[in-house]
Amino acid sequence: MLRYFPAALERLTEEFAKLPGIGGKTAQRLAFHVLSLPQEEAEAFAQAILEAKRTVHTCPVCQNLTDGELCAICDDERRDHSVICVVAEPRDVIAMERAREYDGVYHVLHGVISPLNHVGPDDIRIRELLARVAQGNVREVIMATNPDTEGEATAMYLSRLLRPMEVKVTRLAYGIPVGSQLEYADEVTLLRALEGRREI
Ligand SMILES: [Zn+2]
Repeated sequence: MLRYFPAALERLTEEFAKLPGIGGKTAQRLAFHVLSLPQEEAEAFAQAILEAKRTVHTCPVCQNLTDGELCAICDDERRDHSVICVVAEPRDVIAMERAREYDGVYHVLHGVISPLNHVGPDDIRIRELLARVAQGNVREVIMATNPDTEGEATAMYLSRLLRPMEVKVTRLAYGIPVGSQLEYADEVTLLRALEGRREI
């Protein structure tokens, strides 16, 4: 096959094309952009990728991303560690924190149960949540997965597992339209959802 560009440029384009939401043309544009950067900027970009990979890991308690031993929220004594808000992704923690009203802690599942995408209960951080609740000292678990089919199914699955553990399990009262995503909900909507949560 005839190659139009140097192999290294092709390779860079291929790497960009692997990123979510990046098509072939955009990948090529990004590769050309990186090539046009001054040497030190290109190196800073490459270093940022390597450093993030090297230092960011999941918090051993809540599974959120952190570069510390514990994440800043688990490490905060002013927060109520007896209330756990269960979310699907780390970006959902940011959405909840934006509402500034929640003072409990979190548990990040890193996905939802999705038979269609071959994601089962063992593929997300459910075991870690059960272990946390089993340790005691948890009085409420708030299910804050998205109000779509998979988010609902995951919340119901978890509530069944948690029910025998004598912990109150609640679900956000979504004023958030069904099928939408937590991360796009505005602060007021999230606040109402949190205040109006009901037991499941
Ligand atoms: Zn944590």
